[in-house]
Amino acid sequence: MLKGKTALITGSTSGIGLGIAKALAQQGANIVLNGFGDVEGPKAEVAALGVKVAYHGADMSKPAEIEDMMTYAAAQFGRVDILVNNAGIQHVARIENFPVERWDAIIAINMSSAFHATRLALPAMQAADNGKGWGRIINVASIHGLVASAEKSAYVAAKHGVIGLTKVTALENATSGVTCNAICPGWVLTPLVQKQVDAKAVALGVTVEEATKQLLAEKEPSMQFTTPEELGALAVFFCSPAGNNVRGVAWNMDGGWTAQ
Ligand code: NAD
Repeated sequence: MLKGKTALITGSTSGIGLGIAKALAQQGANIVLNGFGDVEGPKAEVAALGVKVAYHGADMSKPAEIEDMMTYAAAQFGRVDILVNNAGIQHVARIENFPVERWDAIIAINMSSAFHATRLALPAMQAADNGKGWGRIINVASIHGLVASAEKSAYVAAKHGVIGLTKVTALENATSGVTCNAICPGWVLTPLVQKQVDAKAVALGVTVEEATKQLLAEKEPSMQFTTPEELGALAVFFCSPAGNNVRGVAWNMDGGWTAQ
């Protein structure tokens, strides 16, 4: 379905981003990966799906590096048709104790990077299909873009901001083939969440298994994690013809978290 298209997924060396990259690759899209840590492993996983894969190591807190990544991505396999703004970090502390440097980093990586990548991706998307436009911008927000949890001020503020940005991007392109939507996962067991589980186990003096159960029980009625594969399938739907007129939604995959 996406053969010949190029998808750039930020923060895709791990977790949800890698899951979405693989789901788009399974539909035939060529993939540009980004993120820190092991690069060769994720690259091989995507290449094994039979598509072309490239990588750019831009630090998403740095607008000049984002600009460089967007230029690089467009030069690899043609323009960026699908942009998935996914890179994100977390820090947990009460506001009065929240390190200012962590606040700035979370706002930059989790929110401002989506603005920068979007503004740089839009012109080519708008020009596609003889000026009628074709493009998909998918912002990986969070259930914390819709509701809050204590001790996550920067993350909740950034994710609410991302949902606002999603709506504006959708509206400004509403008469074209460029759509923008957000995905709002509840708990997904990635390194980002494993750190929170481990901290909980230490704080409560319980096993990691017990801490995992408690983490889910507090927020997620299904008592199960959403998987990167499930989120990847939702991204594929947004990219499909059935997603042509889905504009500006914030779509939960949260095990009932916000139904309560
Ligand atoms: P993860 O830690 O597994 O992956 C984060 C990715 O972002 C990695 O590839 C990492 O290298 C990259 N990254 C971090 N800082 C970066 C930077 N400065 N520049 C470039 N890349 C950077 O985490 P994840 O759980 O897969 O999170 C992915 C997204 O999903 C985040 O935006 C997160 O807020 C969101 N999310 C996660 C959950 C969850 O439960 N795991 C729930 C809701 C939303």
